[in-house]
Amino acid sequence: MAAEKNTHAAPTAKDMKDIVALCKRRGFIFAASDIYGGLNGFWDYGPLGVELKNNLRDRWWRDMVVTPPIGPDGQPIEIVGLDSAIIQNPKCWEASGHVGGFNDPMVDCKESKKRYRADHLIVLSPNDGQGPWLAFDKEASADEIAQRLKKHARGRPESDYTRGQLDKTPVADFPKIIGPDAKEPGTLTEPRQFNMMFHSYAGAAAGEENKVYLRPETCAGIFLNFKNVLDSSRVRVPFGIAQIGKAFRNEVTPRNFIFRSREFEQMELEWFCHQDDVPMWFDFWVEQRKKFWESVGLPLNHLHFYDTPKADLAHYSARTIDFEYQFPFSGDGFDELEGIAHRGNFDLTQHQEFSKAKLEYMDPTDNTKRYLPHVIEPSAGLSRGVLALLCEAYTPDPNRPSGVYLNFTPAMAPKKAAILPLTAKEEHAAPATNLYLELREDFAVDLDIKQNIGKRYARQDEIGTPFCFTIDDQTNADQTVTVRERNTMAQERISLDKVHEYLRVKMKA
Ligand code: ATP
Repeated sequence: MAAEKNTHAAPTAKDMKDIVALCKRRGFIFAASDIYGGLNGFWDYGPLGVELKNNLRDRWWRDMVVTPPIGPDGQPIEIVGLDSAIIQNPKCWEASGHVGGFNDPMVDCKESKKRYRADHLIVLSPNDGQGPWLAFDKEASADEIAQRLKKHARGRPESDYTRGQLDKTPVADFPKIIGPDAKEPGTLTEPRQFNMMFHSYAGAAAGEENKVYLRPETCAGIFLNFKNVLDSSRVRVPFGIAQIGKAFRNEVTPRNFIFRSREFEQMELEWFCHQDDVPMWFDFWVEQRKKFWESVGLPLNHLHFYDTPKADLAHYSARTIDFEYQFPFSGDGFDELEGIAHRGNFDLTQHQEFSKAKLEYMDPTDNTKRYLPHVIEPSAGLSRGVLALLCEAYTPDPNRPSGVYLNFTPAMAPKKAAILPLTAKEEHAAPATNLYLELREDFAVDLDIKQNIGKRYARQDEIGTPFCFTIDDQTNADQTVTVRERNTMAQERISLDKVHEYLRVKMKA
């Protein structure tokens, strides 16, 4: 099924509204606190969304921790799992640089009262110097940009302008810039630092001494437990520690549905290795992660691998490759899904210094050799992964009643099959219920008895169920059922006692 997906184009900007609507209509994703009008940057996963998210999460965990890949030397590599607390000793965030440095340059708009990340704003400056400059979010769609040009520059084409970034624009030019939500130029303030970590107080007293932070990334808990894991298990360098969990960032401009949220989930691996082996392991992980995304249904030609230029690297990173996906709102470009970074031994060095704990690794073959291992970190967004799968799967099709189907791979589909008796009569419903009871032991399946069969197929298409088994009069006569395949809508009859095996084989595809 994955090969077939290469033929369908990545969804366009126009589809995003439809994708969001389908997610709500069919119970994938709802705005958090929906009945209170929502809360910007927070989302709830409904009955099907949580299944989809769990499928992606479980596949990552399986591929990393349960059955880690075979290494470059032909031997299986070692990775162990971890589930660390969201709130850690606040010193951890001083050591990691988040208290002092998780600061992004912010600009406020005096007119709209909105706040933006300066490195997220693009500025269009007119090549001929005539007329105002326009600022907009780097994730703004082509449509939004065209609308702004129409409003403020009488529809001049974008080719009349040069694109730049606000954080690279001299403050002296700010008076010429019209902010993203402003009518007049000159309302953006100078960039100022703003810390994106949510904080709270542990215990009854709300004083500075009790101040704690919600983790902005899951990896810190891994570094804090590096020694515990080494001392309590048999792993030896090179090895990895993997963790999946929630992370929180007080994003200034949450946008694009669940893409940039304030609460989200990450799937992170810290791979500890000797400095000399970094290039080999870096390439190894880039290849492994490509295989992963392809196996869950993202064709490589919808991904872009961005080798971050040296000047743009995070202070601790010697090399970073971003895996970017062509989201519907990415215009002609791509947006980040996962980053693979060589973090050097920055984190262990910092935590060793701040905690005074000895974190050096002793080479088991030569106890005079002690060192802080280097780290390769494939850090993926689980929430962004879910969004990429939804966008990729979304396939408009005017030839079917639902007008659309979700082309999930069988392994990612929230429901693997639906059992549909042709009518609610006992002679159809009873064998359907029996089949359902048998299949649900091993697969997430739906038994759907009500409504006409066309409507039920349409519902299953919209939620991406790859197979429907229909029980009709012939079932009682010759013990066969109809299988309808979601993408082709082709139907064939198979023996009732082969259904379980049929599904088992398809799930591996
Ligand atoms: P961006 O540049 O988009 O803000 P980042 O480079 O800060 O992302 P990392 O710190 O590398 O992101 O985090 C690793 C992964 O976590 C990202 O690739 C992304 O998938 C996910 N992620 C980061 N921030 C968010 C967010 N606000 N909402 C959802 N997922 C996020």
